[in-house]
Amino acid sequence: MITKKLLFHTIFMGASLLLTTGCVKTNCPLPDNLDHRVKKVHLNSYRESPDLKRNSWSMGSLCADRITLKEGSQTWKFLLVWNTSHPKGPFWYLPHDNEESAFATAVYAAKQYGGGFLAVESNGQRYVSGRDPNRNFKKDSSYSKTICRIIDTYKPSHLPYMALHTNAEGYLKSGGYGTVSMRRYSKNMHSFPAGNIKTGRKKGLEDEDTLIYLAGKQIEREKVKKFNDMGLNVKFEKVTKRSNDNSMSNCIVLYKHHDNYINIETEHGDVSTHKKMIDRVMKILGQRSIYMVR
Ligand SMILES: [Zn+2]
Repeated sequence: MITKKLLFHTIFMGASLLLTTGCVKTNCPLPDNLDHRVKKVHLNSYRESPDLKRNSWSMGSLCADRITLKEGSQTWKFLLVWNTSHPKGPFWYLPHDNEESAFATAVYAAKQYGGGFLAVESNGQRYVSGRDPNRNFKKDSSYSKTICRIIDTYKPSHLPYMALHTNAEGYLKSGGYGTVSMRRYSKNMHSFPAGNIKTGRKKGLEDEDTLIYLAGKQIEREKVKKFNDMGLNVKFEKVTKRSNDNSMSNCIVLYKHHDNYINIETEHGDVSTHKKMIDRVMKILGQRSIYMVR
């Protein structure tokens, strides 16, 4: 009898595990006040999105909608993913579809802290029709307005505008583009390491490629120190109208009239460090995990 019961139990558990790992909630109703320029595109299956397919095992109760935004001749495609039981919370922008592990980190963040994220879909490529989605935040453009409106729908006003990126290992120029590293700095980009910087593949929080970006019109050393004290490397971008590169950070600082921007980066594929950084940044921002007793 016991073995029969056990067998039944095992089969039942196996079946329910299959059910929970085998699907992702999709096509949920969008929030009412979401930007009217946004169009919802029906997903016949989550398998239509490589990002969802890759992360289906960990999506839990998050829901994913595919949305589009038309801007001139360009149609931008996104996945809007949010925590349906805790929609208010930190919200992340993921402009680069080639930075795959950032998506896994965003899934973790939305499950752990509520809120959600918006990820550009571009067949796994960094650019969309030759354009960098993180260089398209022009003043008063429908792209900028819509993305900020979506973020504002989910994030409580006291939280910053936040982005997740990953970057290539090292600091030398590769393929004509300078890769992000704590070892690179310029007049407008200052490096504030939390401690010793390690080079090489995936060295965790001390890796030269593990860093958060802050941005503002002036360097705010007090703020930098808060993050450094938590063991996080900081790069601070000094933004001016003249140096404006139409990136999200520049848009927030120049046109949102506050310096409330954080981008969390690791080397490609280093999800465990990325998650650790999320937890530390959330602690600094006073956000508690939704799984903690309030
Ligand atoms: Zn990026």
